[in-house]
Amino acid sequence: MKYFTEEEKLTFLSDIIAIKSVNENEIQVANYLKALFDEYGIESKIVPVTKTRVNLVAEIGSGHPVIGISGHMDVVSPGDESEWSSDPFTLTERDGKLFGRGTNDMKAGLLNLALVMIELKENNELKNGTIRFMATTGEEVGGAGSKKLYEDGYMDDVEYLWVAEPSHDTIIYAHKGSLNLRITSIGEAAHSSMPHHGYNAINPLMAYLLEMDEKLNGDNRKNEVLDKLVMSTTIFNAGNQVNSIPEKAVAEINVRTIPEFDNEEVIEIFRTAANNYNKEGSNINIEVTMSLPSVFTTGQSKMVTLAKELGKKYLDLDISIKGSPGVTDASNLLRNKDENFPFMMFGPGETKMAHKTDEYVYKEYYFAFFHIYKELILGLTK
Ligand SMILES: [Zn+2]
Repeated sequence: MKYFTEEEKLTFLSDIIAIKSVNENEIQVANYLKALFDEYGIESKIVPVTKTRVNLVAEIGSGHPVIGISGHMDVVSPGDESEWSSDPFTLTERDGKLFGRGTNDMKAGLLNLALVMIELKENNELKNGTIRFMATTGEEVGGAGSKKLYEDGYMDDVEYLWVAEPSHDTIIYAHKGSLNLRITSIGEAAHSSMPHHGYNAINPLMAYLLEMDEKLNGDNRKNEVLDKLVMSTTIFNAGNQVNSIPEKAVAEINVRTIPEFDNEEVIEIFRTAANNYNKEGSNINIEVTMSLPSVFTTGQSKMVTLAKELGKKYLDLDISIKGSPGVTDASNLLRNKDENFPFMMFGPGETKMAHKTDEYVYKEYYFAFFHIYKELILGLTK
């Protein structure tokens, strides 16, 4: 029999917080979890995504239902470390909070999933079904890891999915998509005393971006849960000398999409408008740098109902059930699933805390989610 003590749980968390899995170091987190699974006889598999980045998949049980549980191993950069009250890569407890980069987003959630797997296996508690643990790489930078898992078929037979992203008081069952475009306008350099000898790359790009902004943000389509699509131009670079006509201007934009106005339609609108500009002598090119579709499910499932009950039991919170503007790996993992698919994002931590200096997770919630996850699995598989 194995029941992890709170001390052990803190040691594991401290170990993985110490791994600086900011871009490309997730492999060390994967190796750490793999070793932990090995110790308890759970087979796990490193799934390479790029030369340096990997996912980790582990499985226990057999047959139905197949429950997918997922979390990402990467964290965002700590930023200016001197702004932190304690070292971001040393788990530090103050006032019932556990501080460190990734405590909240989302190593506490990820670790709980892994430890629950081990207890279920070790104590023979899982009577029916399969639990597939999927730890991903690169969630924070476009979801390359989850895309690979989807493409390799790891989601094909999955019947429930939850992502342990931080959201301890709200179960998220739908979220917007996210689309990044890089738009390059090519002109021709000239001296600014004779602009007609060149072609100013900035002018058409400015007009184009404002036109797109008006068209997209002015669109009236609305999702009942996610509201409207939003688009923002977030980067604009051009020119290098004040008396030269710029030969190149590059802008980047981010669009948060909804099922009624999806990534493909947005890309098409951008392309069509660029073609129209180009017919008038501009040279505007579109590059899609990231495309994650929105996730829309009904939120009506045994899983969500049970998770809400367990939230009351272990957190003493009235968990709300909502849609969210943020994206998760579910954008990739749920490709081709319909709206009746039971999905949720529910985990220790607060969504608003993600990516902040002095990131923390409440110790009490870290421990509580272990029990929530375990009972949830037992409830869905009994
Ligand atoms: Zn996250």
